[in-house]
Amino acid sequence: MEDRELIEIAKKAREFSCPSISNFKVGAAILTKEGKVFMGCNIEDPSGIGVTNICAERCAVIKAISEGYKDFEKMAIVGGKEDCQEECLPCGACRQYLNSYCPRIKIISLNNGNIKTYDLKELLPYAFNEEFSN
Ligand code: ZN
Repeated sequence: MEDRELIEIAKKAREFSCPSISNFKVGAAILTKEGKVFMGCNIEDPSGIGVTNICAERCAVIKAISEGYKDFEKMAIVGGKEDCQEECLPCGACRQYLNSYCPRIKIISLNNGNIKTYDLKELLPYAFNEEFSN
């Protein structure tokens, strides 16, 4: 699957976002090695209890793993304004989570409308438990 197509799926996921706390909509789409795509969006708890909020990235990973998929190629992430043209990268918690479940995943985002790709290791060097996830 082309990166641009995965970005468009992430944009669709962003539409389902529930950003009641941050008011920042994020969508993610993760591609498995089998070619299946799982979407995720940020779902925040309107009660304001921050620990129950979930980011789009973890939402997508949880959906995939809970349906039996564990091998991932890449994840597209978009967020912010309606046009999603500004770069949106995973938060620290999601970087660690991704490292635990898919350390070799590629992260795709838009930067001024252009596709930019990162290895997760670029975004999370010296990760916790790195020696166990290779
Ligand atoms: Zn996050």
